[in-house]
Amino acid sequence: MARRVFVMAAAAVLAACASKEPQPPPATAAVSAAPVPPPPKSGLDLTGFDRGVRPQDDLYRFAGGGWLARTEIPADRSNYGSFIILDDQAKEEVRGLIVAAAQQPNRTPGSDAQKVGDYYNAYMDTTRVESLGLAPLHAELARIDAIATPRDVARYIGYSQRLGVAQPFAWFSTADKKDSGVYLGQVYQNGLTMPDRDYYLNPEDKYAAFRAKFAEYVEQMLARAGERNAKSAAARIAALETRLANYQWTKVQNRDPVKTYNPMTLPEYQKLAPNFDWLAFFDGLGAPVQKQNFYQPSFIKGVGQLVKTVPVSDWRLYFKFQLLDDYAPYLSAQFADLEFDFHGRTLNGVKEQKPRWRLALESMDGNMGELLGKQFVEKYFPPEAKQRMLGIVGNLLKAMDQSMDGLEWMGPETRAEAKKKLSKITVKIGYPDKWRDYSAFVVKGDDLVGNVLRGQEFEARRQIARSGGPVDKGEWLMNPQQVNAYYLSSSNEITFPAAILRPPFFDLGADDAVNYGGIGSVIGHEISHGFDDSGRQFDGDGNLRDWWSAEDGAKFKQRADALVKQYAACTVLDNRPLNGELTLGENIGDLSGMAIALKGYRLSLAGKPAPEIDGFTGEQRFFLGWAQVWRRKYRDEELLKRLLTDPHSPSEFRSNVPASNIDAFYEAFEVKPTDRLYRPPEQRVRIW
Ligand SMILES: [Zn+2]
Repeated sequence: MARRVFVMAAAAVLAACASKEPQPPPATAAVSAAPVPPPPKSGLDLTGFDRGVRPQDDLYRFAGGGWLARTEIPADRSNYGSFIILDDQAKEEVRGLIVAAAQQPNRTPGSDAQKVGDYYNAYMDTTRVESLGLAPLHAELARIDAIATPRDVARYIGYSQRLGVAQPFAWFSTADKKDSGVYLGQVYQNGLTMPDRDYYLNPEDKYAAFRAKFAEYVEQMLARAGERNAKSAAARIAALETRLANYQWTKVQNRDPVKTYNPMTLPEYQKLAPNFDWLAFFDGLGAPVQKQNFYQPSFIKGVGQLVKTVPVSDWRLYFKFQLLDDYAPYLSAQFADLEFDFHGRTLNGVKEQKPRWRLALESMDGNMGELLGKQFVEKYFPPEAKQRMLGIVGNLLKAMDQSMDGLEWMGPETRAEAKKKLSKITVKIGYPDKWRDYSAFVVKGDDLVGNVLRGQEFEARRQIARSGGPVDKGEWLMNPQQVNAYYLSSSNEITFPAAILRPPFFDLGADDAVNYGGIGSVIGHEISHGFDDSGRQFDGDGNLRDWWSAEDGAKFKQRADALVKQYAACTVLDNRPLNGELTLGENIGDLSGMAIALKGYRLSLAGKPAPEIDGFTGEQRFFLGWAQVWRRKYRDEELLKRLLTDPHSPSEFRSNVPASNIDAFYEAFEVKPTDRLYRPPEQRVRIW
């Protein structure tokens, strides 16, 4: 579903939203006999190492080569690694909670248990889903059939936001980038079925093949829904999407917070897209006309043109297909299987659909995530974890502050502003202080599609209602059961959901070095997002404001450009280079995050020497802790997609490139000029 993805467009996350499967046994600590105190546990999973590789040549494979060699990507996954293994664990735990709710007799209507149990039961009742076929969408399809004029088209685009379909652009409300205490309506380009505009426009054979499969998919979906001229309809839909792709901005352009900040009042956006009936749009959305920000004005101008020139009958076909494509997973197998075949198999290389209970959980995460999260943390998040995390975060913030003092490239005014911003960072750990109120969300035990529709409407209403009002600084953009983390520039906050606070990221029972290398670097990564090429353009109160001296800005850019080149020199899949500009913010996060975490680790030692554990020094374990977090395998289709769409570099480079820029890595492992990860000192990039 589109909406959450777009809301997340405002935040920098640790990893592309992951999916899930069965977990390996937890690494067991050495068992010791009676009174002798056990040796400290390192937190390293040595069984996954490859001792045939030298860390100086390839840290990633030294710490993960054994795991890579013995692990196969499960058939229902596009990629597999630490994030997904932890997600599997959290999903199993949440499943237990849900099944318990679903089996409770006499659940009070409207209670959390009723909502959770009935959503799950409706999802799992495949007999009913099969018997209904397309019937649950009949009313929505009839609504599309009634579209007769360009004004109706605009009204429906507004209305489609409430279904979570949101085509050809998405509307949502987030903090105003220049007035961060107020929610502002936001318009973001959308409208494509395939993952990126390149899938429509790139002349390479690979993409031409995707386009051919896409046309087939659209045709079959429409045919199954009873469309008579499905082949020509599919051609018209593909043509419309291609025109939208042409108007779309690239993902690199979309990273620019200044160019994507274009707040306008009604007369202004009426002038921008005069052929688009904005009053009808707001009528369909169910929101008062308001000032809003247009991320990509030229795209909206293009949509206005298309609403004027493309026949209304084509728009009807397009809307029908978009609705089917988004809701097929909740329909009978002939629709759900077809949707998986294209989106799962063709686009991501996945071999098999996930078990239905997992699909149910993913849908529930999207529509009632905090209801599940509340129960999850009560049972699975130990309060001690929060305490130890606060200690690590404290050391990281202190380390970043000290690091700013030592930056030879930064002048005193910019430094003072940077330190002020750092001191204003808000830290959120585990779960929100105040849970979302789902009382207005109606869930029925026999109405899967209705539950999803109402869930989307519930979320849309929440966003509409808050628009123009004060920002809720306590809001979380991720669920506690999600294995990820984020920095949000508009509130200058870093957030770590409960489910990532586990090994290999964080191990309550282990020595500090690996914890600082793992979760410490993650914390440093999120802090650094406040100071990456995009985040640095916001101040400590979350407002887009240039607080840099021209000279310091230029010096920052010089360093960032060097990092762009380093990553652009990395290749995957038959020599395809990484996009160093698309991944720049995340790469700065990784490099600076690790550098700061290392300083934080040194602070934690308070002058005492680190013990040697498992044959490694403290600083060696720090680097290995980071590397083992990134164990991950990708299917080719998935990796190809990520090269175009994922602002994060592939895991191997997240592990190796930052290390190769940090002097302490050279000292820890005695890296020599003949080693593969060696960079001459003058080529090492240090930003924060
Ligand atoms: Zn990030």
